[in-house]
Amino acid sequence: MSLDMLTIPAECVTQSRISELDYNNIEFGKIFSDHMLVVDYKDGAWQTPQIVPYGNMSLSPATSAIHYGQSIFEGMKAYKSADGDILLYRPLDNFKRLNISAERMCMPELPEDIFMQGLEQLLKLDAAWVPPTSGCALYIRPFMFATDDFIGVRPSSSYRFVIFSCPVGAYYGQPLKVAIEPHYVRSAEGGAGYAKAAGNYGAALYPARKMQDRGYHQLIWTDAKEHKYIEESGTMNLMFVIDGKLITPPASTTILKGITRDSVLQLARDMGHTVEERKISVDEIVEAYKAGKLQEAFGTGTAATIAQIATIHYNDTDMELPAIENREISNRVATELDKIKTGELPDPHNWVYRI
Ligand code: PMP
Repeated sequence: MSLDMLTIPAECVTQSRISELDYNNIEFGKIFSDHMLVVDYKDGAWQTPQIVPYGNMSLSPATSAIHYGQSIFEGMKAYKSADGDILLYRPLDNFKRLNISAERMCMPELPEDIFMQGLEQLLKLDAAWVPPTSGCALYIRPFMFATDDFIGVRPSSSYRFVIFSCPVGAYYGQPLKVAIEPHYVRSAEGGAGYAKAAGNYGAALYPARKMQDRGYHQLIWTDAKEHKYIEESGTMNLMFVIDGKLITPPASTTILKGITRDSVLQLARDMGHTVEERKISVDEIVEAYKAGKLQEAFGTGTAATIAQIATIHYNDTDMELPAIENREISNRVATELDKIKTGELPDPHNWVYRI
């Protein structure tokens, strides 16, 4: 199906809920914009997309996504530029990653025009929901789930793809205290760690809660075989600056290939920094810390862009990292990337998609 010249049929709200929104005090993930895009897949084809008021969906108790976990999602942000345009950040990369997740979870490929045109029309309709306030954005949640009402383990034959959105303020406020996980694993080679599949998040909650009970915001996942190498953390990829070099675990089948990760590495290279995408062991972190060479540690992700890590716990020791204000690479990249996203700086890599 090509939607090239088609306008997606829209049923608009009679009364917007925008007046419920306090731009200066936005709670993450609680208030949703007026509309959502919905499109079903059945009989081997994607049907006509529709834009409808945001609201509950009626599902059979046998809906297979609930039982067997064919459910994937994406997360992206839109910003309002100074001249009032809506700026989406690298939406095509989210689209591509959604289809990578779909393939791994045995779900149908979504056509690009449904994703992009759906996004564009939805955002035009809900433009007032993109906060103009600095630091705030509209968080966009595309997702796909299996809709067969059927009990039995097999790929569903029907699916639903939805996009909805919610205005957000800053996600992680304070610098993070994280702990290296010595026992639980998030993903293993050959598994589905590189997919943004709902089950990956569900399985991470219990280990994360245990770490939170011990006073840490998040845990750092290590490899499934030996707990020797650093993987990622929460909904962030991880980066370290050791002796002036920016080092991050390589993209693999066990971590989610972050779009922020890619952007940060590119900007750091542009600035002339040495960037290494390679395995990084827990021992290397500890040794660099002891030698005074661990200069920066941070997470990268859509939610926070860059979330600074203040403390890394390992083997009964809290490693206290250098003061945030002295972190040259991450601070500079974070400022630059945020300004590219909001249109305050030129966009040399064509990352911004203007609506
Ligand atoms: N890892 C995981 C597990 C995530 O959920 C996310 C958030 N999508 C990331 C890393 C960071 O990815 P991105 O920069 O594309 O938001």
